[in-house]
Amino acid sequence: MHEYVIIGGGIVGLATAMAVGNKHPKASILVLEKEQDLAQHQTGRNSGVIHSGIYYKPGSLKARFAREGNRSIVEFCREHGIKHEVCGKVIVAIKASELPLLDSLFQRGLDHRLAVARLAPEQVQEIEPHVRCLAGIKVPLTGIVNYREVSAKYVELIKSHGGTVQTGTRVNRLHEVNGIQVIETPHGEFEAGFIINCAGLFSDRVARFSGLDPGAKIVPFRGEYYELVPEKRYLVRTLVYPVPNPDFPFLGIHFTRMIDDSVHAGPNAVLAFKREGYCRTDISCADLF
Ligand SMILES: Cc1cc2nc3c(=O)[nH]c(=O)nc-3n(C[C@H](O)[C@H](O)[C@H](O)COP(=O)(O)OP(=O)(O)OC[C@H]3O[C@@H](n4cnc5c(N)ncnc54)[C@H](O)[C@@H]3O)c2cc1C
Repeated sequence: MHEYVIIGGGIVGLATAMAVGNKHPKASILVLEKEQDLAQHQTGRNSGVIHSGIYYKPGSLKARFAREGNRSIVEFCREHGIKHEVCGKVIVAIKASELPLLDSLFQRGLDHRLAVARLAPEQVQEIEPHVRCLAGIKVPLTGIVNYREVSAKYVELIKSHGGTVQTGTRVNRLHEVNGIQVIETPHGEFEAGFIINCAGLFSDRVARFSGLDPGAKIVPFRGEYYELVPEKRYLVRTLVYPVPNPDFPFLGIHFTRMIDDSVHAGPNAVLAFKREGYCRTDISCADLF
């Protein structure tokens, strides 16, 4: 029997396992991941940006966690020699109608004490010579990293503290017997004192396995990216973001210089017909309803 079983081997599950291990060094910890490898979904397919938290409402948990996360991940990368760069980003307005929104983002950055700077177009061009805009904001604390590498280091640390990470093991059901949590998988049952659900795009279903109603259902959206051909990478030095459209919960399509020096443009947000479906033709009937 394990004291803690964590379902999901993405960055949230692995960071949770590491944090529980740090807090309870003697506890037995098991991470169960359905794929053959870790960080195969959101964690390994994102923009690789270390966000500053500028977009979030001051005083909100998201704002607090983003600030603390920004500081702690940079510290973690420095301590463990993980390649990263605090290169900063610019948010640029290209239409007059975006200027009031840019101003309120700037004010938000000041409220968060993010050392943001309001930039005239020429100042934006000193940072990003190929950007044409009406005005911009520099957010110096934004950075880049490969979250697969961060995840791999988490796994190393979890194992070095005696924890177990088991891949290729999908959790199919959960039930309780005499106060002990029983986890059903194709490789047999596991018993746990506590289960921590970090199943990403399946976390609502995993919650339902144990009879809970999470009060929410995940509706999958797929983010698609283009990649600049190597000869055009010089067009983007750091990260260039638009002013987000307040009607949508997305940051807008941005240019991101990745930590491997490639430059991505994206993501958009397309309603997907399958959770963890990465091709336009991926469809799952179970995910449609
Ligand atoms: C397009 C896009 C771009 C993004 N860009 C950024 C960015 O630049 N910076 C940033 O900080 N955030 C970004 N994010 C958000 C970030 O990627 C996610 O918040 C984060 O990766 C979530 O991690 P997770 O561990 O919760 O989920 P996941 O990485 O999806 O991990 C969940 C894991 O649970 C496993 N699992 C699911 N069901 C089961 C089961 N029944 N049994 C066992 N295992 C199971 C899955 O296989 C998966 O490995 C982006 C997200 C998207 C979609």
